[in-house]
Amino acid sequence: MSGPGPTPEWQSRPPYTDPRQREKDTGKPFDKKLEGTCHCGKVRYWLSRDKPLGSKYCHCTDCQVMHGAPFQWAAIVHKEDMSFEHGVRDLSFYSSGAKKPAHDLPCKVRCDNCGSLIMDEGRNMLLPFPGLIKFKGNEEWKANFQPEQHIFYSRRVLDVPDGKPKWSGLDGHSQLMSE
Ligand SMILES: [Zn+2]
Ligand SMILES: [Zn+2]
Repeated sequence: MSGPGPTPEWQSRPPYTDPRQREKDTGKPFDKKLEGTCHCGKVRYWLSRDKPLGSKYCHCTDCQVMHGAPFQWAAIVHKEDMSFEHGVRDLSFYSSGAKKPAHDLPCKVRCDNCGSLIMDEGRNMLLPFPGLIKFKGNEEWKANFQPEQHIFYSRRVLDVPDGKPKWSGLDGHSQLMSE
């Protein structure tokens, strides 16, 4: 990703600092609790938490278009909770606001080779897509990532009668809907 010239500052901050750099920066090894990989395997990341801060399904039309799916599944973690094995190598960025391939937050991050969507990067948080995480049969960790709610349910193309809260728009800032 980095062309000629100085390395952009964000590339030397989490989650783009690799585990070795993270150890140098913090003085302790990065706790590799969970591993995530894209479809082709070029992109690998580590999470230092086995329970996200939250997890949700998003039914908004942007997610439908960019994910090629009826809705999107995303967890929420701190930027410090994640470390890419090879930094920004093999990553590409798309700013949905600017509609340009740029690391302009918030942006979508994908594998440059296979195109797998890896996460949404917000200004303060990361929203990794748990489909990439290798739970390796650990049902407890897998359960930790199960969505607790649906957002933008008013835009849905599919009913999901799972008994979980359904917000018409953003969680906590819209109406709760019936299934
Ligand atoms: Zn890939
Ligand atoms: Zn969405």
